[in-house]
Amino acid sequence: MSPVARSPDAVLEVNLAALRSNFETISTFVGPRVEVSAVVKGDAYGLGVEMVSMTLAEAGCRVFFVASINEAITLRSILRGPTVVVFGGGLRRDFDVYSHFELTPVVNNCEDLRFTASVKSLPYFLNVDTGFSRAGLNMEQLRQECLTRTFQRYPPEVIFSHLACAGYSSDVTNSLQRDRFQSIYNLLRPARGSLAASAGAWLGKSYHFDMVRAGSALYGLNTTCVRPSPFQSVINLRAKILEVRNVPDKEAVGYGGTYRTARDSRMAIVGIGYKHGVPWACANKISVLCAGRPAAQVGSIMMDSMAIDVTDIAEVNCQPGSFVDILHRDFTVDDLAAVAHASPHEVLIHLGAGCFKEYITESA
Ligand SMILES: *Cc1c(COP(=O)(O)O)cnc(C)c1O
Repeated sequence: MSPVARSPDAVLEVNLAALRSNFETISTFVGPRVEVSAVVKGDAYGLGVEMVSMTLAEAGCRVFFVASINEAITLRSILRGPTVVVFGGGLRRDFDVYSHFELTPVVNNCEDLRFTASVKSLPYFLNVDTGFSRAGLNMEQLRQECLTRTFQRYPPEVIFSHLACAGYSSDVTNSLQRDRFQSIYNLLRPARGSLAASAGAWLGKSYHFDMVRAGSALYGLNTTCVRPSPFQSVINLRAKILEVRNVPDKEAVGYGGTYRTARDSRMAIVGIGYKHGVPWACANKISVLCAGRPAAQVGSIMMDSMAIDVTDIAEVNCQPGSFVDILHRDFTVDDLAAVAHASPHEVLIHLGAGCFKEYITESA
């Protein structure tokens, strides 16, 4: 018999029932007159666009956003019916691809708008910049295009804009952007409008317009200002114990000796590191569950491994080959990101890209 690869050391468990439940939570929250679209850019924030988009389509989602034309081609091979919208635009360059795969372009600038208006063959979403300064037509450009009647000749299907400060409910930027968007919305009727992403939806009804674009909330991150989180956690993370070793008192553990033992200790070396997406900056600041008991991570986070102090854990409960729980119901991606002073989006996408993914469909 030839040897086979061993099971993966770092396993990211993706709960598709929780994903679906978050889609339903958002849908119920915004009500039946507001469409909930799904943002699945970045391989669905690392969680795997195939399983994620199929689950959401089954739950009733009809509009999906991706970042680039290549992501769109991949998504079209998974989903035939739903609308696939490409944030990155680039219609002039990729017109043939858009037509062939029936993808929906985002118009981000005046040049693409004129091109779109001249070919008139594809429905399009219009990005308007109300104060994010990344992409989209600004107020002045919009007025200009209205004067030349571009939109009358070839109206957008949806106009959308992105909020800069949606996670901070008291920030005046929010209402400023909303009021700007409202005036553009009035101007470009009957195009449908979309202003809020996940956090924006929780700022209130006046931010909903006709469609919300949910990304992080679907994946269980809570970027709203509401506590406790309205969303179910979607992922768990576990890693395998590779080795258990005795370390005498006053020894350095890992690079830089950022941790030194203060007693004769037992260390479990687990097979997960920054290669898998665990932030380097969380070294010496988190604990994991070893057979349900908390045990501190100590020393630096290394490329493929990190050390756990298991001196106080019964030996039978931490043997090479058994797993420790790193993320679970009581310690989520949001918590890990907070410890590392990182964005939860960033932590999630790195874990998703770095770990073996296992999909489960049980409800929590
Ligand atoms: C990424 C993105 C979203 C989704 O944002 P979340 O905060 O993850 O919900 C929505 N709209 C645009 C334009 C985006 O770039």
